[in-house]
Amino acid sequence: PVMVSAPDLPATYNAAGFDQVVMKTYGRLQLAVERGEGCYLWDSSGKKYLDFCAGIATCCLGHANSRLIEAISKQIRTVHHVSNLYYIPNQGELASKLVATSCHDKVFFCNSGAEANEAAIKLARKYGHTVLGADVPVVITALQSFHGRTLGTITATGQTKYQKNFGPLVPGFEYVPYNDVEALEALVKKINGGGPLSGLRRKKRKVAAILLEPLQGEGGITPSTKEFFQAARRLCDETGALLMADEVQTGMGRTGKFWGYQQHGVEVDVLTTAKALGGGVPIGAMMCKDACNVFQPGDHASTYGGNPLACAAGLAVMDAFEQDKLLENVQARGDQLRKGLDAMAARLGKGVVKEVRGWGLIVGVELSADTTFLAADVGAALLEAGMLTVAAGPKVVRLVPPLVVTKDQIDGALATLEAVLVKLGA
Ligand code: PMP
Repeated sequence: PVMVSAPDLPATYNAAGFDQVVMKTYGRLQLAVERGEGCYLWDSSGKKYLDFCAGIATCCLGHANSRLIEAISKQIRTVHHVSNLYYIPNQGELASKLVATSCHDKVFFCNSGAEANEAAIKLARKYGHTVLGADVPVVITALQSFHGRTLGTITATGQTKYQKNFGPLVPGFEYVPYNDVEALEALVKKINGGGPLSGLRRKKRKVAAILLEPLQGEGGITPSTKEFFQAARRLCDETGALLMADEVQTGMGRTGKFWGYQQHGVEVDVLTTAKALGGGVPIGAMMCKDACNVFQPGDHASTYGGNPLACAAGLAVMDAFEQDKLLENVQARGDQLRKGLDAMAARLGKGVVKEVRGWGLIVGVELSADTTFLAADVGAALLEAGMLTVAAGPKVVRLVPPLVVTKDQIDGALATLEAVLVKLGA
């Protein structure tokens, strides 16, 4: 492990000041961001950082983006919040732009990824009860998945570290190893098969939905195989269950296609997204096809969901896709990044880099099991070298820059990362 000498932070940010009043739910790095522009951030001492974290794949247009500034400034001067008791014109506009990008018909707006997944889980349960005739609708998720931090979504999350000490968890979830087609087939059969069961299981259990990330983000930048995703589609078609994609991290162009599910060549019934949807302004969305839209007035709601300010941000992001060729940039810069990382990995050897994975601008560098350092150590050394990243598990360095990242910035990031890995591995 490396020791990092952090720059001294102003009094309000030091441990005594900040941590005294803000709950310590994060292991924070010694960095207080003061301002940003494009793919750069500056700390309170004036030090500049190349931002390959982007608020964890959120600030897709970078920082202080003029489209975002103009859109939300104009909106806040006009009307910033009303209520979903009324029609919100720009919410309708954003919804129509979103459905035009996907195979879905309807959008429900909320404020975060976890909330979007809660909406999807509720939709799946109601679908299970009312359409499939289940007494106990079951949602299948994958091991190593991540779906959020609410009680429902930590239960959906297939990693016990997020659930520990928060039980009792929400009933009605089952887990399958990611990319294991046979295990998924067997699990669906077991749940739907019935048989002589006791207790809760005497009631009719039925798979209501299979919820998957098209590529696992927090789980280590692990893409689903086409075979697995397509098997999930087939099993849903055979049983009437809904295939639901959690695109909170993979959505909005991050993978080089507008939606991650499009990488797998099949449609999904339900999709959730957040993060990049507002370019850093809180907004989430759950989209579904008309055929599975069982929500009626009163079924689900959110005070802030789809407020005019958040929708103005969402529309600014959509404008950037339409007018600034953002998707083309993700594809070109993503290729450049992955090619550069493959070449770097070859130079450093298997003793340092085990694998480079990902699509578009969501890329993971898995360190060899033999390295004495972890992804967090690489992150700390990069911070010192003026570059921000975020780990995805103990051994995976995640690179998720703003989607507006330039060729020179990718070159700069590659050089900085290689220098840091050489230094740590020496
Ligand atoms: N799903 C996925 C795939 C995510 O990556 C995240 C956040 N990392 C979430 C859900 C939760 O999103 P939020 O923090 O906005 O609730």
